[in-house]
Amino acid sequence: SGLVIAMDGPSGSGKSSVSRGVARALGLRYLDTGAMYRAMTWWMLREGVDLTDPAAVAARCGEPELVAGTDPDGPTIHVDGIDVAGPIREADVTGAVSAVAAVPEVRARLVARQREIIGAGGIVVEGRDIGSVVCPDAPVKIYLTASAEARARRRSAELTGSSVDDQQAAMARRDALDSTRKADPLLMADGAIELDTTALSLEEVIGEVLSLVAK
Ligand code: C5P
Repeated sequence: SGLVIAMDGPSGSGKSSVSRGVARALGLRYLDTGAMYRAMTWWMLREGVDLTDPAAVAARCGEPELVAGTDPDGPTIHVDGIDVAGPIREADVTGAVSAVAAVPEVRARLVARQREIIGAGGIVVEGRDIGSVVCPDAPVKIYLTASAEARARRRSAELTGSSVDDQQAAMARRDALDSTRKADPLLMADGAIELDTTALSLEEVIGEVLSLVAK
């Protein structure tokens, strides 16, 4: 089918679990665009590019070959043939990704790749700018939110050895950078439906999204 479901929202709002669950339920593909920004960041760190210099990041961002798999049961991400699914979740990448994602040339390149992967549709796409920039014509646009405390709690449950307070501080920093950057800041797209997941279980959120799709 040509369906595209755009799933945007801040970190810890439940985007990944919800997107994968919805894709599975509907037999759609799944694309994690955050993993692509993370993979680009992993490559920049490995190359020793100065991330405080946007011109340096822009000059190199055409070099890495990024390949993102779209199976919701086992999404994959490779850079120049290297499996980076693990390393892109490490603290060094998480701490640096907002700076890389703020560079317009990086966004232009990754948005073009994302549109190639989306192709004729049949996919749930998760990110920050899917409903606003990548797929403004998507028939279903969801904006997931949750309280800062709930988002930090979920994130620290995923990562061992990290306190809720530490998580909340790190997430607040990343969200502030993501929503105040000049290029495609995180904001609710025209036509998006906001879904607050603070008090809902994963199954309940998936159910809400499926009923929106059925409308
Ligand atoms: O979703 P995730 O937390 O993995 O995203 C990592 C980072 O990638 C975000 O903090 C943001 O800076 C960037 N990003 C973006 N646009 C997207 C997806 C992610 O700028 N569509």
